[in-house]
Amino acid sequence: MKKVILTGDRPTGRLHIGHYAGSLRNRVKLQNTGEYDIYILIADLQALTDNARNPKKIRESLIEVTLDYLSVGIDPDKSTIFVQSQVPELTELTSHYLNLVSLSRLKRNPTIKTEIKERGFEESVPVGFLTYPVSQAADITAFKANVVPVGDDQLPLIEQCKEIVHTFNAIYGDILVEPKAMLSDNKVCSRLPGIDGKAKMSKSLGNCIYLSDTKEEVSKKVMSMYTDPNHIKVEDPGNVENNPVFTYLEAFAEDKHFQKYLPEYKNLDELKAHYKRGGLGDVKIKKFLINVLEDILEPIREKRKYYEDNLDLVYKILEDGSKKARLVAQNTLKEVRDAIGLNYFDKK
Ligand code: ATP
Ligand code: MG
Repeated sequence: MKKVILTGDRPTGRLHIGHYAGSLRNRVKLQNTGEYDIYILIADLQALTDNARNPKKIRESLIEVTLDYLSVGIDPDKSTIFVQSQVPELTELTSHYLNLVSLSRLKRNPTIKTEIKERGFEESVPVGFLTYPVSQAADITAFKANVVPVGDDQLPLIEQCKEIVHTFNAIYGDILVEPKAMLSDNKVCSRLPGIDGKAKMSKSLGNCIYLSDTKEEVSKKVMSMYTDPNHIKVEDPGNVENNPVFTYLEAFAEDKHFQKYLPEYKNLDELKAHYKRGGLGDVKIKKFLINVLEDILEPIREKRKYYEDNLDLVYKILEDGSKKARLVAQNTLKEVRDAIGLNYFDKK
């Protein structure tokens, strides 16, 4: 049997190069191996847990995220793209799992703690937000996913899911499948920093280079990027650690980019060595980064344009994918209900 992958994104804005490095690029690669059944979830209900007062944003972002998927090469004939709210079985699964998790466990989740702080929720955190890891466990287990490709901010959520699987199976029998997180091989890609140098590029923090940004927007953002604050004159030795320009190069620059745009260096190691010695200006490396990003983003933009001009097709992809996903979730929910004993009127 093929392994099952469940992965997804919150429709809280367009997707950014952090998503590309941390997850999208890998999804396309996995999809094209043909070795997996892939479900890609657009988590609109989860996005509403901290955006309940702004449903318009979620509705509009749903289509933006789908356009981003299609433009990076996710192929609806190979991967099932679906919408969380259109699979109501996920909500019932969530309600069964909520009984298996304590409030203190939810509050201890490091990802949730950070996100509560970032959003300034303090004590006013919506209950739905605090419990979204449980709904995420429903998403993963509904498809009996073995593998969940994610950025490293998601690891505590996968841990929570595993605990729910263990607890459920211990009480009700071996029904649910334990998932494994799959991180990008390239460590910097697991959590790409923002252009402001903050720990994570994130839609909610507004520090992103979006896959759909124009060439001008990309250039402007890169030119404004934070580098090494002590690298003032070109001659000064520079620091490549905690320098997001170098982090981005590590995530995206390949040797072919050096041959094409910066042939005086063979690879990133040589460029780094020069920067550390001194004598290499920020403008030069930023211009190189712009070229590297454009190399990746230009074909993505072109593909996006095609789907933007064919939105009916995009909605059809979502509708078909959601129907297909629903059938799978219905099966799992039936097993779960049977296991708990909620099948009073079943003839058998
Ligand atoms: P939000 O701010 O609304 O939470 P986000 O930018 O964090 O949005 P999500 O939709 O929460 O994006 O995350 C989707 C997936 O992308 C997750 O697997 C997450 O780990 C990964 N991801 C998000 N941001 C980054 C990043 N900066 N670097 C690498 N992976 C990331
Ligand atoms: Mg997030």
